[in-house]
Amino acid sequence: MSQLKEFLSKPHKIVITTHYKPDADAIGSSLGLAAYLKKLGHQVQVISPSDYPKFLHWLPDNEEVLIYDKNNEKTIENLVHQADLICCLDFSCYGRLEAIAPIFENAQKDVLLIDHHINPSITAKYNFHNVQAAATAQLIYELIVALGDKDKIDVQVGECLYAGILTDTGSFKHPCTTKKVHLIAGELIDIGVNTTKVHNRIYDNNSEERLRFLGYVLCKKLKVLPEYRVAYITVSAEELRRFHSQTGDTEGVVNYALSIEGIVLAAIMIDRTENVKLSFRSVGDFSVNDFAKEYFNGGGHKNAAGGSSTLNLEETEQKFLELVKQHKEQLLQTQF
Ligand code: 5GP
Ligand code: MN
Repeated sequence: MSQLKEFLSKPHKIVITTHYKPDADAIGSSLGLAAYLKKLGHQVQVISPSDYPKFLHWLPDNEEVLIYDKNNEKTIENLVHQADLICCLDFSCYGRLEAIAPIFENAQKDVLLIDHHINPSITAKYNFHNVQAAATAQLIYELIVALGDKDKIDVQVGECLYAGILTDTGSFKHPCTTKKVHLIAGELIDIGVNTTKVHNRIYDNNSEERLRFLGYVLCKKLKVLPEYRVAYITVSAEELRRFHSQTGDTEGVVNYALSIEGIVLAAIMIDRTENVKLSFRSVGDFSVNDFAKEYFNGGGHKNAAGGSSTLNLEETEQKFLELVKQHKEQLLQTQF
């Protein structure tokens, strides 16, 4: 902490990055930390490996995020090359940066890692990794306070951090929602964060097409296997096209499958053409982090994880069903 404080006492060039297809915690944490560092006098650039949902575009300074595409790869390389510090937020293995992973992995720069995912593999000079944290945004709040700069958390920083905490706790309902999390949320309200506004912008911002897609998927695509306590959804590339699916439209859909009475494991498998992307949710002791890591080249948290498959959608579904059969005992014994 003292070394970081010393480093931050002089102006530097700082690059912040986060995981592919960033969610509210990833982008909120990045923009919140960026706003704070700019107040200290640093030159800060947030780089995202991909686009992200429109319901996050209202976040303060969103327009300053540099989103990777093939045309700006050199610009990103230069920014990383010139940086005095790289901040890795809400991920802890370089693979999650997808196409820009090699740029960061080979950068040989000092790294500040702030994350709460299981099994970190990034070596960082400044390491704020804590799997107990509800959100990376919580860790950023705690870091700014520990640096003695609580007074620099204003409405702008606060809105960004609140967005991350709100979404990663599932609106303050997941087991990670400790007293500390509520106290931080309370502090953010005291500062002037309009929590209703943040909530509305994130959750009450559906396009008509997204809602119709959701209705279709729940009516036609949800498969429930009560004998295994599993429910899952598959979405083909054609279905994504038919509903003009935008980035973010499938986010949270898997939670509906988990909300069915008695279900302990839920999954959604989406044909993203280049691969099949999987999202898993569970309750109780069934670790989807272990499941995603072992079988789908992924990871995340105990009850929320993701992965991918290079098999086609039908083969991925078959693989999942085989694995469900293999894990039947464990699924039936899961307490919650
Ligand atoms: P989601 O299902 O909402 O995309 O992700 C759930 C959790 O798992 C998030 O914390 C996310 O960062 C993580 N996650 C999603 N996909 C992957 C993946 O492919 N690899 C790893 N290591 N984590 C993932
Ligand atoms: Mn997070």
